[in-house]
Amino acid sequence: MKKILVIGNGMVGYKFCEKFVAESTSSQYKVTVFGEEPRPAYDRVHLSEFFENQDAVALEMAPRSWYEDHGIELITNVRITDIHRSSKTITTSTEDEYTYDYLVLATGSSPFVPNIKGVEKEGVFVYRTIEDLEGMLAYAAKLKAKNPNAKAAVLGGGLLGLEAGKAVMDMGLEPHIVEFAPKLMPRQLDSRSSQVLQLKLESIGLNIHLSKATNQILGDDAITAMEFGEDDVLEVDMLIVSAGIRPRDELGKTCDLEMGVRGGIVVNNKMQTSDPEIYAIGEVALYNQMIYGLVAPGYDMAGVAVNQILGNEAVIMPGDIDMSTKLKLIGVDVASFGEPFMPASKGHSVIFEDKTKHLYKRINVSLDGKSLLGGILVGDASDYNMLHQIYLNGMAIPENPAELILPASEGGSSFGSALDLPDTAQVCSCESVTKGDICCSITDGESQNFGDVVTKTKATTGCGGCKPMVADLVNETLKSLGKEVKETICEHFNFNRQELYDLIKVNQVKDYDETLNLFGEGHGCETCKPLVASIFASITMETPNRQVGIQDTNDRFLANIQRNGTYSVVPRIPGGEITPDKLIVIGEVAKKYDLYTKITGGQRIDLFGAQLHELPLIWKDLIDAGFESGHAYGKSLRTVKSCVGSTWCRYGMHESVTFAIEIENRYRGLRSPHKLKGGVSGCIRECAEARGKDFGLIAVDGGWNLYVCGNGGATPKHAVLFAEQLDDETAVKYLDRFLMFYIRTAGPLVRTAPWLDKLEGGIEYLKQVVIEDSLGIAEDLDAEMQGLVNKYECEWKQAIEDPNMAKRFKHFVNSDDTDDNLVFVPMRDQKMPKAWS
Ligand SMILES: Cc1cc2nc3c(=O)[nH]c(=O)nc-3n(C[C@H](O)[C@H](O)[C@H](O)COP(=O)(O)OP(=O)(O)OC[C@H]3O[C@@H](n4cnc5c(N)ncnc54)[C@H](O)[C@@H]3O)c2cc1C
Ligand code: SF4
Ligand code: SF4
Repeated sequence: MKKILVIGNGMVGYKFCEKFVAESTSSQYKVTVFGEEPRPAYDRVHLSEFFENQDAVALEMAPRSWYEDHGIELITNVRITDIHRSSKTITTSTEDEYTYDYLVLATGSSPFVPNIKGVEKEGVFVYRTIEDLEGMLAYAAKLKAKNPNAKAAVLGGGLLGLEAGKAVMDMGLEPHIVEFAPKLMPRQLDSRSSQVLQLKLESIGLNIHLSKATNQILGDDAITAMEFGEDDVLEVDMLIVSAGIRPRDELGKTCDLEMGVRGGIVVNNKMQTSDPEIYAIGEVALYNQMIYGLVAPGYDMAGVAVNQILGNEAVIMPGDIDMSTKLKLIGVDVASFGEPFMPASKGHSVIFEDKTKHLYKRINVSLDGKSLLGGILVGDASDYNMLHQIYLNGMAIPENPAELILPASEGGSSFGSALDLPDTAQVCSCESVTKGDICCSITDGESQNFGDVVTKTKATTGCGGCKPMVADLVNETLKSLGKEVKETICEHFNFNRQELYDLIKVNQVKDYDETLNLFGEGHGCETCKPLVASIFASITMETPNRQVGIQDTNDRFLANIQRNGTYSVVPRIPGGEITPDKLIVIGEVAKKYDLYTKITGGQRIDLFGAQLHELPLIWKDLIDAGFESGHAYGKSLRTVKSCVGSTWCRYGMHESVTFAIEIENRYRGLRSPHKLKGGVSGCIRECAEARGKDFGLIAVDGGWNLYVCGNGGATPKHAVLFAEQLDDETAVKYLDRFLMFYIRTAGPLVRTAPWLDKLEGGIEYLKQVVIEDSLGIAEDLDAEMQGLVNKYECEWKQAIEDPNMAKRFKHFVNSDDTDDNLVFVPMRDQKMPKAWS
């Protein structure tokens, strides 16, 4: 029996075992794998998830029993100290000896710690293992117990540094990133995309210090500050060093294998070192003069080594290794593929930039305009998978390449379906799964859904970047076979919104993590988090002040962000009625904070140009004068517009203002799948445009006619007559039921008009449910709505009265400084943002 010893049980060492099990058909091999860490290999790519649940087992690539079940001996907590090539033996830290026929070095790399004076002080960490994270968590807890405003810095603004920055935020410490280069992610991003990323990260509270060389780390025993220059010091209580990696090549050196000038064990395209019986794979291997700090090339190397050992000599590493990456850094999409930076002599670049939305897209196109050579995406990488495939497969691009990155509204076009890709297109590069593998798994009947495809092909189980494209392929293939495709919320919840709403309600779930534990999987995303937040709000009336982390940006700051990064303030003015005194207060507040004022179509006054830190101050003044949040930022009730009605208008049949105020106050703060607008007109002349709203009431002889499911906006639609000649009480009862039924059953971000369009049975069915109680749920709907009405609280009042909640309204977490980058220019006696240059 031939003995294969694998040194290193990291991601690549494990992958070697997995591929070995899959490829080897004979029992003439015995594999033993040694790991220095105390546990079986785990998913280092998703290491940061440990901060969320501190569950090391959840990160394991496979449980210990997997190795046993496949006849692999796993020895953890043991370091290999020597390799004796002449006797083909190795020695362990426990002084045991093992002989080998083949040796596989998968020792990975370790974080590079620059030789800075004081770097050994207490409170300085690296970011590589679960033990590193446990150490940080314990230290951060100690710091916070002493000082709730403790700060931590990350040395290094590269990919891992920014991930560590997120970890610092999650630990509740004030986060700082210190980068030597003049830009973030210098290896992946050009200057403009790096600036866009920086703006976005700063807007969510990260403090970024560029072009800073750290001279020394100050403090007695523990770190207290970083010193950059004589008068340039940053006080911090903790530091995470993330300044690159160095291969763990010490064993190669001591046994005289050929080494790279700057480290790494040299390998050929068979993954053999200078000793043909010793292989090196993963981050310790120097292939093509490069150490590849990504998992996908490591996995390929593992496959090549397995095949070579098994005698399939034709399987070798390709010459070119694709270093494309797509990541979500602190909730921000960042991707680069092919040649991200390209000299003008080699091709043309097409750039789309929208700093207000923190968006940057660049593609590099060959000089003849026919092929895509690479690109960079920041802020929205939803096009990454398709662009990457176009690049990898040399697919044709449109005559005007800008169409590939422009938003549809500006002439962008869709690239067509994922099904248009060639079958050989590699969709999951970590696991080398092609489009053909995915589609055939369904057409052959092996897989019925996304989960089956993942189990069968292992697609998406590496870095996970290909998930959206795999999901598209699965859905498109199922549809092409005439099978029904369930519209689930996202990859984390295999339910639609209505199903999840019911599950949360019935099980009385109280927060997002619990929801994910009970009904979901993974760690959630920007789609499911705000959706779950909205469901909680619709069930319990909780405001975005609780569970701030799962809200979308506008809800997080209780304000709409505007094109220059400032915010708008919109107090509620129910029914559009306002006293002169309140008007004066709005004027005074606008003057005090130099805000641009405008009367809106919803009959209220928007105040524009507020900086984040000013929001609580402005709202304090407004709330003191009796105003409340207008929820202009929420998927919730906006306004109930009214005409002047019978109190002043000679045509008026009823008091439209009074009724509009009553209704607006009843539903204020009500969260729903999309925004809601209402209107009340005093007669059929319809001055309040009630039929252009989600619900509208028009006074007629004998009461109110109720209309539902209309809207203005991009696809205007008139509301449909629902019931006639209602008295006030019945109108409110029907409205309660209609709104509650919509909230319970609509899909995410579906307004009432398209919801009604899709509702089987249409308006007649809706009437049966609401008026005739055909489903027997009317009583529930009434009670639910009344419960929500009773629980209403102004969320801005809540936010300013609780100092902890108010903390989030700061530009720079560490200081009260304002945002100096804002520039305004005068316009018609007010001000407007200066156009971007
Ligand atoms: C926080 C973080 C995020 C990352 N994110 C991404 C990402 O998004 N995408 C991506 O592609 N890559 C990412 N990476 C990089 C990726 O994790 C690595 O490329 C991959 O883990 C390399 O695998 P490896 O097996 O070569 O090395 P490792 O995972 O480091 O495993 C090597 C193992 O060998 C052990 N070992 C070393 N020497 C000995 C010895 N003498 N005896 C016994 N055992 C030994 C080590 O203790 C270690 O357990 C990330 C890395 C980190 C730390
Ligand atoms: S809708 Fe009728 S009542 Fe209202 S303002 Fe117009 S004309 Fe007057
Ligand atoms: S219509 Fe609405 S979204 Fe469009 S520019 Fe005007 S305010 Fe903005």
